[in-house]
Amino acid sequence: MSKRDYYEVLGVSKDATGPELKKAYRKKAIQYHPDKNPDNKEAEEKFKEAAEAYEVLSNDQKRQRYDQFGHAGMSGAAGGGFGGGGMNMEDIFSHFGDIFGGGSFFGGFGGGGRSSQRVNRGSNLRVKVKLTLQEIANGVEKKIKVKKHVECKDCNGSGAEGGSSHSTCTQCNGSGQVTRIQNTILGQMQTSAVCPSCNGEGKIITHKCKSCAGEGIVKDDEVITINIPAGVAEGMQLSVSGRGNAARRGGVNGDLLILVHEEEHPELIRDENDLLYNLFISVPDSILGTAVEIPTIENKVKVKIDGGTQPGKILRLRGKGLPDINGYGRGDLLVKINVWVPNKVSKDEQKLLEKLQASESFKPNPSSQEKSFFKKVRNFFD
Ligand SMILES: [Zn+2]
Ligand SMILES: [Zn+2]
Repeated sequence: MSKRDYYEVLGVSKDATGPELKKAYRKKAIQYHPDKNPDNKEAEEKFKEAAEAYEVLSNDQKRQRYDQFGHAGMSGAAGGGFGGGGMNMEDIFSHFGDIFGGGSFFGGFGGGGRSSQRVNRGSNLRVKVKLTLQEIANGVEKKIKVKKHVECKDCNGSGAEGGSSHSTCTQCNGSGQVTRIQNTILGQMQTSAVCPSCNGEGKIITHKCKSCAGEGIVKDDEVITINIPAGVAEGMQLSVSGRGNAARRGGVNGDLLILVHEEEHPELIRDENDLLYNLFISVPDSILGTAVEIPTIENKVKVKIDGGTQPGKILRLRGKGLPDINGYGRGDLLVKINVWVPNKVSKDEQKLLEKLQASESFKPNPSSQEKSFFKKVRNFFD
């Protein structure tokens, strides 16, 4: 569907001034306002069309771009966010304060919109879960006790004693909205607003439930079972829809937000999906070779260290890291080999070492092979 020219929509000339635009838009908004044209799709489209035209033309930057490129210049992010699908009613009403001067004239415009009964919404509930690396590696089911608003059992969340002592609000006849006829300089206007007697709920509780004082909710402990997927990380927030606080009088529950706190592992360090481990071997082991046990998330694995291994060498144990949260495989376990240099030796050891000190093989002789080693060390742990 091709869009009409914005100037044409508002019925103004290309060089219309700001006040002229405002006046033209106000006229269209009143003419096509949904309260004046109930169940009239065409009027609603025209109402939206005028709002969109005004939104663009009242903004100097957008207007300039529109003048230069037409509707093509309005699409995507450059168009201010509504180039694709037009504006929704909420957006339009939220701008009415500017047009109608803070709503003093047309009190009902901005606030009420046309939605009928107001729906209560419970607040979100935030919990923190502590997870070990092992739990993160496998995913885990956690049971957490929380204090939250739950539906009052005595009134089934209605807030009314016996569940039936409700009466329809007489001021709005149950619609939750009151309409007013106002005489304005632009003619008679019908506006609607949230009913003040029932706060938009459409009904009044004649006998309030004693357990919840008519609120329909009470505070209670609840044990919530949550499934943590494998691969989560410190600071991540998971959201479970509808498991937060219950709403007043049977509304929509809030969400449960779970903040992940990762507990430190005694030996392994996490680096995204990889795990890091600092291995220390003795001087003789580094020369003669040895077999060591390396801790992993699940168990220990035996790893052979070749004789003549330089400190700083990194072994990569493929797939021994953490699973990716989006299912892109698993990280690795990187083992950095360090050689433990004793700072105290016995008399006998001293004699042995003095012998070795003089021997030819113990003189440093880095081959070209070892030069790349510095690069590896730098990439590791910093
Ligand atoms: Zn109750
Ligand atoms: Zn009412």
